[in-house]
Amino acid sequence: MAIQPLTLPVPTSPPALTEEGFAGPMVAGDLPGPRSRVLLERQEQRESNARTYPRHLPIAIADARGSLVRDVDGNVFIDFLAGAGVLSLGHNHPELVRVAARQLEIFTHGLDLPTPAKDDFVTAQLSMLPAALKDRMKIHFCGPTGANAVEAAIKLCKTATGRDDIVSFAGGFHGSTAAAMAVTGLVEQKAPVGGGMPGVHFFPYSYCARCPLGLSKESSGTRCAHYLENALTDPLGGIPLPAAVIMEMVQGEGGVIPATYEFAQRVRRLTRELGIPLIVDEVQTGCGRTGTWFAFEQYDIEPDVIVASKALSGIGTPVAVILYDKELDRWAPGAHIGTFRGNQLAFATGAAAVEIVRRDRVLENVRERGAQVAALLTPLETLDWVLEVRGRGLMWGIELVHPGTGRPDGELAEAVQAEALRHGVIVETGGRDGCVVRLLPPLNVTEDHVAAACGVLVDAVSAVGEQGRAA
Ligand code: PMP
Repeated sequence: MAIQPLTLPVPTSPPALTEEGFAGPMVAGDLPGPRSRVLLERQEQRESNARTYPRHLPIAIADARGSLVRDVDGNVFIDFLAGAGVLSLGHNHPELVRVAARQLEIFTHGLDLPTPAKDDFVTAQLSMLPAALKDRMKIHFCGPTGANAVEAAIKLCKTATGRDDIVSFAGGFHGSTAAAMAVTGLVEQKAPVGGGMPGVHFFPYSYCARCPLGLSKESSGTRCAHYLENALTDPLGGIPLPAAVIMEMVQGEGGVIPATYEFAQRVRRLTRELGIPLIVDEVQTGCGRTGTWFAFEQYDIEPDVIVASKALSGIGTPVAVILYDKELDRWAPGAHIGTFRGNQLAFATGAAAVEIVRRDRVLENVRERGAQVAALLTPLETLDWVLEVRGRGLMWGIELVHPGTGRPDGELAEAVQAEALRHGVIVETGGRDGCVVRLLPPLNVTEDHVAAACGVLVDAVSAVGEQGRAA
């Protein structure tokens, strides 16, 4: 049956959405509302079965501002997903909108030719690196996704070392394209398509809440790092010297698991001793998310390759880069090309975003609001169905467990997500079986919004767990 032109029931023209005089989220009636339902049904008929977010967040978006999102039914939500961490300065930051509009008039797409906008962007990005790395790093523009930049990082390291194998960590997520997926832990995504990039070896990560070696947090002695050290130095260990080790400093999709300091230090020490480039995937943790521009800064390590994307432009204009040690710059012209590497809107907004982050002390806000989130949510750990509340900066997770079995409880997390949405807060889930409720608010989120959203989450986690207990 041919699909009819779009007509939404009871069209309205509401006043512009604003954060001024915020009186809390506002959801009237069931979700999805009638207008959202029409768009969701049309989407289901015409879009891929592989679509994801609308399955758990059944709303259609009309407009957004700052940390607020309004659906087509007029419901207003606090958005603690923020485009999966892309919208670091919130939706439609007015200064970035103006910068993008101006750039749109000047020049939009420039392949990898130099332009003033691009030059400003490179200057801004290099200026955010720790002093010791500023002069040591070069930048490569990739196709505008995190996955494409991961592909580039792997290619760079393979070319520079002349080696084949890659070491990655269980729970890591690096993207959905072939090589990025091969170094990703997510078995469900890989299983149906088999035969990915060979030579990938997975090692345990410092996931102390559920130690992969079955040890306790207090007594583990970071044996996960020991295991890696042993495997890579054992002449009978079966693994040729790898081209790279790739890791996230805080596993995001894997359930907001910060590496322990000791683990990160030992991985860096080992890779240095053995001459293995260390790729730090900062696609999610980068650009201020954890309270420093890059998360690795908190671990006192220096990576050889940094992968960055998501929040680089501050407003969602797509861009992805790798920053890497000049020593590795041994690949040939055209070694990693792609048509969409010259998005001038992303460059102009990205350079402006860095200025705003400095001027508005956004990193301080991340640390302060992060402490606020911790204070509000950590008490949830006293509940039987909450294993751990953990995070860095404005990247937080609440890991839910089945109180009887202690197993990861994805159903509970999904119920919390639905309950939070019903009360006007958008959050994501992740981790094993989706058992972690994840928070990724804009980095300039206000104290009021954090208080309101965390209030809703505390109630949702408490209510959903109580219901489960009563059932
Ligand atoms: N690396 C990390 C750490 C990520 O979190 C993601 C996306 N969630 C990616 C890579 C892939 O980025 P993209 O979806 O833009 O390809």
